Amino acid sequence: MSARKMLAQFTTDQLLEEIVRRREDRKDIGDVQPCDECRHFKFWITSGEAPKDYNPCELGNRMRFHMAGDGEDPHSSIGYYRRVCVSRSPREGAT
Ligand code: SF4
Repeated sequence: MSARKMLAQFTTDQLLEEIVRRREDRKDIGDVQPCDECRHFKFWITSGEAPKDYNPCELGNRMRFHMAGDGEDPHSSIGYYRRVCVSRSPREGAT
């Protein structure tokens, strides 16, 4: 299938939404706090793999996930995060 035909499956709004999502994913996240420092973050401690729909946020908030890619600062590998969250509550001992 040609790229043109593949793109024709989506509306212009869907394509623009995807472009914005990708731009957000690539923004510098150096100053973003990871969710695993929040007391509402539930680590998967049961044996076996977590189900695909597992949400580590006990409040059910939607998070993003970032892992450093090629050419990125490996220290920017923060895992789950949410840029702005009114429910963020630092876990005791977290910075
Ligand atoms: S920062 Fe917000 S989204 Fe992240 S775990 Fe805490 S409450 Fe959930």
